[in-house]
Amino acid sequence: MKSQDIRKAYLQFFESKNHLIVPSAPIVLKDDPTLMFNNSGMAQFKEFFLGNGTPKSKRIADTQKCLRVSGKHNDLEDVGFDTYHHTMFEMLGNWSFGDYFKKEALAWAWEFLTEVLKLDKDRLYVSVFEGNPAEDVPFDQEAFDIWKQYVPEDRIIFGNKKDNFWEMGDQGPCGPCSEIHIDLRSDAERSAVSGRSLVNADHPQVVEIWNNVFMEFNRKADGSLEKLPAQHVDTGMGFERLCMAMQGVTSNYDTDVFTPLIEKVEQITGLKYTSNEVKNISEEQNKVNIAIRVIVDHVRAVAFAIADGQLPSNTGAGYVIRRILRRAIRYGFTFLDTKEPFINQLVAVLANQMGEFFPEIKSQQQLVTNVIREEEASFLRTLEQGLQLLENVIVSTKGKEVSGEKVFELYDTYGFPKDLTALILKEKGYSFNENEFEIELQKQKARSRAASEVSTEDWKVLIPGNVETFVGYDQTENDVKITRIRKV
Ligand code: ATP
Ligand code: MG
Ligand code: MG
Ligand code: MG
Repeated sequence: MKSQDIRKAYLQFFESKNHLIVPSAPIVLKDDPTLMFNNSGMAQFKEFFLGNGTPKSKRIADTQKCLRVSGKHNDLEDVGFDTYHHTMFEMLGNWSFGDYFKKEALAWAWEFLTEVLKLDKDRLYVSVFEGNPAEDVPFDQEAFDIWKQYVPEDRIIFGNKKDNFWEMGDQGPCGPCSEIHIDLRSDAERSAVSGRSLVNADHPQVVEIWNNVFMEFNRKADGSLEKLPAQHVDTGMGFERLCMAMQGVTSNYDTDVFTPLIEKVEQITGLKYTSNEVKNISEEQNKVNIAIRVIVDHVRAVAFAIADGQLPSNTGAGYVIRRILRRAIRYGFTFLDTKEPFINQLVAVLANQMGEFFPEIKSQQQLVTNVIREEEASFLRTLEQGLQLLENVIVSTKGKEVSGEKVFELYDTYGFPKDLTALILKEKGYSFNENEFEIELQKQKARSRAASEVSTEDWKVLIPGNVETFVGYDQTENDVKITRIRKV
């Protein structure tokens, strides 16, 4: 089944259960001071759960563009290294606002996965909240009893607060969740080791696909829980992971969500990506694979963010987007030997593939391409210069530790990020002196503090002849030299 059809099947299924299908909210949030990017399907409905406003329907379903690169959910550093966490991904979600509850939500989740999509029941595990007596939160007996109708007890897992209890904050709506996991290992592997022990254990083939949150309680200021007057359901399913399960592959990158992008990178670089089924690859090939995964992942995050109005910049959300793009550029530069802008060419592939469902990526295609190309060109210049300088530093270093002052100079004068230097050094078997770097950083901060004080308080514009300590001419205006002096 193609990814497009999987997405449609989900939305149609919930439409048939009387859900209103709504479009994804933008990936960038402009009016929420607590959140930079949409990182889950429920973000756009938050106010309804807090009792502010009424949704258009008590039952809603959609697919939400999510970005997990900052704050509570930050998967950025895993991306490229694992095969199932992305920066940008789609979260399929269905909601009940004070309407249906656990019985329907779990029954429909099961029906969709096993009857509509016909996933193998024997590969599915479900989890329920085990309870937390210390905080007076009960075991989720209700969810357990519902699951027992569908799933043998040895595939029901009792999860702790971290995985199976959801809270909006220290106070407010909260409740137990029930996750669905899938075991995609081979039959031989599955009979050797039970998947039960691998759930929520970072196994790349035993992954969480769907989370069902039941907003059942309100946590009060004193920490105690009370039942909410109306109970809600919030579910989120990772679309790319579902595609992996449906397409008989063991990596999200081997699904048709990513293969067109990967093929384009292969075509541009002349290098090959090996699918997750190919074992025993060389160290070199592994690096190429990681770099390609980073690039095809990050281009989606950056392209959708720009299409939704967030240009790369030096502050806030724009800076996060710039850093994601720079991470992709660097992986290309280092492991694919790409010294010219090329990531921008992937935007056309993305627009072609996703444009039908997300028209913004098509309508903004030109802008997105241009912005990415410009960013690539300028960062590649920085990389070239910085790498050359770093090379010189390494050559003049005795031992394996580079001076923190030099690393600071690269950062301060050439805009070469510290973590980037650290990575490059690590790849070459070097490290740098973090303390020295930190000292330089503090000195620089003190200097700029002093400079700003200077410009507001310590410096005065005086007429010539009244100079105490001559510092320099600022400008010449009507033949009167305006001289800056330091007041002692
Ligand atoms: P995980 O434990 O795998 O990190 P999670 O518990 O953080 O996932 P939830 O917040 O429960 O994820 O989000 C709901 C669903 O979204 C998950 O069940 C998963 O399928 C999907 N998902 C979460 N994070 C990512 C990601 N970074 N990339 C792709 N899909 C994701
Ligand atoms: Mg997570
Ligand atoms: Mg989880
Ligand atoms: Mg989860």
